Amino acid sequence: GAPLSQGPLGVEFNDVLFSYDGDQPTLDRITFTLKPGEVLGLLGRTGSGKSTLARLLLRFYDPQEGTISLSGTNIRDCKLKDLRKHVALVTQNIEIMQGTIRDNLTFYDERISDEAIIAVLDDVGLSAWFEAMPYGLDTILASGGGSLSAGEAQLLAFARVFLTKPGLVIMDEASSRLDPYTEQRMEKAVSRLLTERSCIMIAHRLATVQRADHILILEQGRVIESGRREQL
Ligand code: ATP
Ligand code: MG
Repeated sequence: GAPLSQGPLGVEFNDVLFSYDGDQPTLDRITFTLKPGEVLGLLGRTGSGKSTLARLLLRFYDPQEGTISLSGTNIRDCKLKDLRKHVALVTQNIEIMQGTIRDNLTFYDERISDEAIIAVLDDVGLSAWFEAMPYGLDTILASGGGSLSAGEAQLLAFARVFLTKPGLVIMDEASSRLDPYTEQRMEKAVSRLLTERSCIMIAHRLATVQRADHILILEQGRVIESGRREQL
């Protein structure tokens, strides 16, 4: 497979056509470019195709027509493992696997030190939660994250992104389960995150994506508006 470069990734959709049922297109000839390090706000009503676009980027599905590239590499030519290491998806349903807190946050990358993990847990506002863990980073989390609140699970998802440093982060309405205080803490953490990589922020409202450089609005799988944020 073709290797992806380290650091912020550019994203290019070229005439992408995708249909779940092979009939009605869910994404209807989508074309856009995001430069490395930039933030795209992806907006549109329920059912307009936003999450589908994210799934194509991670190759949960492949488009029937058109191409998707990351910094010039067609994602069809990447190894899946490599692709999913470089592109992180933060959704409302984070995957917690049966295993230690450490493994859940590092994906077994032994180069990530315990000190770094604890610093990041503090950054995202999980230090009080972490201090209550009986075995520290060796504490086992149940698969599915049953012992975590939804907000905690989501903060862990952010911590994972900070530690594994993907070149592209997709946030799919990612802060909807946080209380206002926690959300504020996350805002700060997200600001830091955005300085080091490219990001696609999926939301329903323009107000939610104030940090976006570019905005793309979908309606029934088509781009109905696209441009720099201040132009819309
Ligand atoms: P929301 O804002 O509610 O999250 P969305 O813009 O993310 O909506 P998608 O989840 O991408 O919308 O769905 C786009 C369309 O594709 C919808 O009509 C939806 O019903 C359909 N769809 C989504 N997932 C599947 C699937 N696995 N199989 C078939 N159709 C699907
Ligand atoms: Mg969605």
